Amino acid sequence: MTKVLDCGSVFPGCDYQVHGPTDAEVIVKELDHAHDAHEIGPVSEALRERIRAAIREEKPARAG
Ligand SMILES: [Zn+2]
Repeated sequence: MTKVLDCGSVFPGCDYQVHGPTDAEVIVKELDHAHDAHEIGPVSEALRERIRAAIREEKPARAG
């Protein structure tokens, strides 16, 4: 199951989306993006938790 994160859930107004096979990979990609796009400084544990909390499973689109 693919994991997906809307960056806007962590940094409101951003429409960047991260996909990855695991939470860890999504977090790494998001932090990479955040460094470039949001100019964050050192990554705090609180930020890491906010990212982790915003990750959801990407459900295949199907009826029901
Ligand atoms: Zn972003």
